[in-house]
Amino acid sequence: MRAPVSRRCPVPAAAPTPPPAFATRATSTEGSPVREILALTERPGTISFAGGLPAPELFDTGGLRAAYDTALTTTPRRALQYSTTEGAPELREAVAARATARGLPTGADDVLITSGSQQALTLVTTTLIEPGDVVLVENPTYLAALQCFGLAGARVVPVPCDEEGILPDALDTIVARERPKLLYTVPTFQNPTGRTLPGTRRAAVARTAARLGLWLVEDDPYGELRYEGAHVPWLAAHPGAEDRTALLGSFSKIMAPGLRLGWLRAPAALRRHAVVAKQAADLHTSTVDQLAAAHYLGAADLDAHVATVRTAYRDRRDALLTGLGDALPAGSTWNRPEGGMFVWARLPEGHDATALLTAAISRQVAFVPGSPFFAAHPDPRTLRLSFTTHTPQEIKEGLRRLGTAIQGAAPGPGPGPDPGR
Ligand code: PMP
Repeated sequence: MRAPVSRRCPVPAAAPTPPPAFATRATSTEGSPVREILALTERPGTISFAGGLPAPELFDTGGLRAAYDTALTTTPRRALQYSTTEGAPELREAVAARATARGLPTGADDVLITSGSQQALTLVTTTLIEPGDVVLVENPTYLAALQCFGLAGARVVPVPCDEEGILPDALDTIVARERPKLLYTVPTFQNPTGRTLPGTRRAAVARTAARLGLWLVEDDPYGELRYEGAHVPWLAAHPGAEDRTALLGSFSKIMAPGLRLGWLRAPAALRRHAVVAKQAADLHTSTVDQLAAAHYLGAADLDAHVATVRTAYRDRRDALLTGLGDALPAGSTWNRPEGGMFVWARLPEGHDATALLTAAISRQVAFVPGSPFFAAHPDPRTLRLSFTTHTPQEIKEGLRRLGTAIQGAAPGPGPGPDPGR
């Protein structure tokens, strides 16, 4: 039988129905403003104190190339194949050995390898946070952590801090009042302030967590970058914290961030749930990158490499600290971090860091205004200066430009591009 011949239908097509709306958690969380500022500061000739990037000329390119060669030559089929969610056993072993050497006895089974420590934060958040749960943070704190908690629908509550970080008495009061699920903290060389929580306060935070029932998330990407002063043990190592701390570590600042390799050390139950969350997120972290990192740790001397990086960063920090007084307006204050990548400064009354950034960028120098790092009560006079990606000579020139920009800029609030991570 022949099919009926279809006649041309002149009826106009109905207007398409738009797809359903985006989730509120997506639309209510600010995008990463780092891109905008990095775009501006990537213009050739700009001296940027803005980005939180490691110095690329210090990457051990030769050592890493050799490690990838070894992974792809000795075990190519394994290196290019799917692998387990928990991570390559030899890399878990190596991470555990480094954590143990830093004073926290750790077995390979305690560790989950993640795609950057950022993913570890996402997995812990997915595992612990329901919409409406309270998350405590330092004020100011790491911008992408605020985004992570925002996307999970958490109610983020800042804990009062001073120049050494969290005030334990204030934490006590706030935990009793808010009944939070977790405290997120970057206790060592914090982003954005560079400050470090002293050991006595860490002990008090651990006691509060144990007494009042609280998870602790200790984010430590900078801890190995100490330039002076005594090592302060991890919060996770203090009595009370053992069964409730998710410790997040990273290879980004000591090897290279492009590897996207981090780790989570957590109590067994939390880790088991995080493994399921990771399966849903990316199945596992890149096999070849993990094997290359494990070969690197076996063949190269990472501690010697970190020592080289430390020496360079210490000189750069000192160059920034030496010149800052001449660049910033009289009455400004700033800290002297013992490590990490950032100096935190505050302009005098009547000045606004975001307005100043516009003037600075026109003079080919950049920094990050501090306001967006605050979970509440932003301080428009604050700014973050990263000292890692320029030589001391360039830092000196950058500060000269900054001084000129400040002299040319009238104090007062004004618009400007959003800041970075
Ligand atoms: N936490 C903090 C406090 C950071 O500053 C950063 C990177 N800027 C991260 C986590 C993410 O690091 P990773 O590259 O390991 O994902």
